[in-house]
Amino acid sequence: TERLHIIGGGLAGSEAAWQAAQMGVPVTIHEMRPKVGTFAHQSGDLAEMVCSNSFRSDDSEQNAVGLLHWEMRAAGGIIMATADKHRLPAGGALAVDREPFAASVTAALKAHPLIEVSYEEVTELPTSGHWIIATGPLTSDALSAAIAKATGADALAFFDAIAPIVYSDSINMDVAWMQSRYDKGESEEEQKAYLNCPMDETQYNAFIDALLAADKTEFREGETAGYFDGCLPIEVMAERGRETLRFGPMKPVGLTNPHAPDVKAHAVVQLRYDNALGTLMNMVGFQTKMKYAAQKEVFSMIPGLEEASFARLGGIHRNSFINSPTLLDNQLRLKSMPHIRFAGQITGVEGYVESAGMGLLAGRLAAAEMLGQSLAAPAPETATGALVTHITGGADAKTFQPMNVNFGLFPLVEGLKSGRRGRKDRYQAYTDRAKALWKDWLDAQA
Ligand code: FAD
Repeated sequence: TERLHIIGGGLAGSEAAWQAAQMGVPVTIHEMRPKVGTFAHQSGDLAEMVCSNSFRSDDSEQNAVGLLHWEMRAAGGIIMATADKHRLPAGGALAVDREPFAASVTAALKAHPLIEVSYEEVTELPTSGHWIIATGPLTSDALSAAIAKATGADALAFFDAIAPIVYSDSINMDVAWMQSRYDKGESEEEQKAYLNCPMDETQYNAFIDALLAADKTEFREGETAGYFDGCLPIEVMAERGRETLRFGPMKPVGLTNPHAPDVKAHAVVQLRYDNALGTLMNMVGFQTKMKYAAQKEVFSMIPGLEEASFARLGGIHRNSFINSPTLLDNQLRLKSMPHIRFAGQITGVEGYVESAGMGLLAGRLAAAEMLGQSLAAPAPETATGALVTHITGGADAKTFQPMNVNFGLFPLVEGLKSGRRGRKDRYQAYTDRAKALWKDWLDAQA
């Protein structure tokens, strides 16, 4: 019998392999680790979670990622079943004990009679057979080059830009204050949504000097081509001119400092809540590739943040993804080479759960095709369907950027109240509708 070949045994590749094998199709996973590593992976296990250990909200009635959990569980997904087995207490979120999680996914796949794992890096695009490329945000250089060659050079390479996150209670409120620019917002909460740290001219100039002098992580040649608008690192903005930040994220306009109402700030650093608890704040527009030690030093020069402690420092990560809206059909096939499918983060979805979700879909679609069944993509009203519809058609190809699952991707439910007040009912309607349609999609395959 024919085999399905999957390149990359991460979150997406593992789920794709499981789904296809459960449908009776033999699978080979080609995984380059542990022979060839990445900067983020630590082990040779399949389905390694490289950073946080959270699958985010598990609420399948009011949250889109929780709904995606529900859909993957209903489809017998290995990633969700294993996550449930290694769940850690985390309130409404699904946090996972990552090492036993990855070890158990690896063991389950290896124990499956139809799955084999071949440990090697694939460096060329396959010319025949049935393939899924699920090599993730850190796709190896050789394969990236091969993909770029086949799809056109602008179709690849990109960076995730992360701004530092500060513990709210470590900020000095004798210096900082809460206010949105021009007091914008309908409620008092929105009018005070931002925390402001003021600088005078001397402080600003010293800060810019420190930014320019700080130790930075250097990209390898060619890697910087991926900066996208609005996400330039602050030190790159500072290099463009001493005043650039003052006219960008540090502009002092629309704000009055209650600690010194008569003094006009020369520049202002703004922070915004990063979680509902209000315990974390992120520094708006402050993505950076300064080294961690340098970040702590330079940011302690910001008035109000002298003693700040950081929940997460800033970073800019490599995140390879293809321009799916132009390159893929809604079966996740490369239009120019339909024997190759893509799945996971490389398709332009963002996150562990979304990546695994696209793996689930690619595995089922590929297996169905190999078995001579015709299987349509799930309805766009489901979480899986909304995501695949977005990346392969709904999104604007010109501005395409990686996307988390969210209710903004779902077709409207007619006749419900809009705005904040109607939100709860709307989300319930979205998730009820999605579950019914997802069951239909699964039943049609049974
Ligand atoms: P991966 O899980 O990375 O799997 C890809 C696999 O392909 C890897 O095992 C790799 O070794 C292998 N591979 C690559 N090239 C080749 C090749 N040529 N031949 C053979 N094998 C190959 N998402 C979150 O939800 N939460 C987070 O906290 C989070 N943090 C992240 C931090 C970093 C540094 C990065 C880069 C990404 C992060 N993501 C996070 C985003 C993303 O959800 C994860 O990277 C997720 O693992 C993507 O799943 P995937 O299956 O597409 O890729």
